[in-house]
Amino acid sequence: MEIIDCVDEMQRRALELRAAGKSIAFVPTMGYLHRGHLSLVERGRAEADVLVLSIFVNPTQFGPNEDFDSYPRDLQRDFALAQAAGVDMVFTPTADSMYSAEAATTVHVARLSENLCGASRPGHFDGVTTVVCKLFNIVQPHKAYFGMKDFQQLSVIRRMVADLNMPVEVVGLPIVREDDGLAMSSRNTYLSAELRQQGLALVDAIRLVGAAARAGERDAATLVAMARRRIEQEADAEIDYIQICNDATLSDVDTVDEQAVILLAVRFGATRLIDNNYVLNEL
Ligand code: AMP
Repeated sequence: MEIIDCVDEMQRRALELRAAGKSIAFVPTMGYLHRGHLSLVERGRAEADVLVLSIFVNPTQFGPNEDFDSYPRDLQRDFALAQAAGVDMVFTPTADSMYSAEAATTVHVARLSENLCGASRPGHFDGVTTVVCKLFNIVQPHKAYFGMKDFQQLSVIRRMVADLNMPVEVVGLPIVREDDGLAMSSRNTYLSAELRQQGLALVDAIRLVGAAARAGERDAATLVAMARRRIEQEADAEIDYIQICNDATLSDVDTVDEQAVILLAVRFGATRLIDNNYVLNEL
């Protein structure tokens, strides 16, 4: 496995691989790898000649009061996991090499990026789309893999790729969960045992809402209220949002149908957890 920390070298290698007729699969991450990331790696490994994993804690997608500095990092552990999973190249650029002092260009996806996490994390998705666009230009992938854990991020990236005619196939893969249902996240390491237990309320709320919807309750406001009541039972829970949205537009729906997704963001102490599920799907 090669480790490449230079932007120009990564791009040169990618262009050489393409010229040699090789297909490139790409998994962008912020590192501190877990089984959710590795599910993307595994799919990418199976679908291309060369598999590139990037590890970059992208400063521009964190707000001024967010957890950029404390975000968990352990490159040596990540390298071992990546190697064991069959990654060919790990791309680990520095922030300085990604963003020159003169940089003046931002990729902004209107509408889709403004609801949900976009409302509570201003500028977040501009940071995400700009860095993913740059990474695509550097790594030159044929296919790129993203998790449905970040449902809105996946929608925003698909919109960007379509709108800007990027020659990349975006593959979205299901949420990988812990045995007790908690969605895997690098940020779960912030949680004390007590807060982690409280965090399971997200899973519980999704299950309650799904069961009610499958039993015939299709009014979104009623279902959201049900989820809210469940989350509010937890002492430290502070709800950022609970919404039921159409999967294509990410606008709120009045009535639940096959396209309805419940999306939640809840703070437990300093840790913000997100989760989502198609309302009618069992979790
Ligand atoms: P991150 O390192 O958190 O930026 O995540 C990198 C990629 O892994 C993103 O496409 C995430 O959606 C995906 N991912 C993170 N957690 C999970 C999970 N539990 N299941 C599936 N994919 C995930």
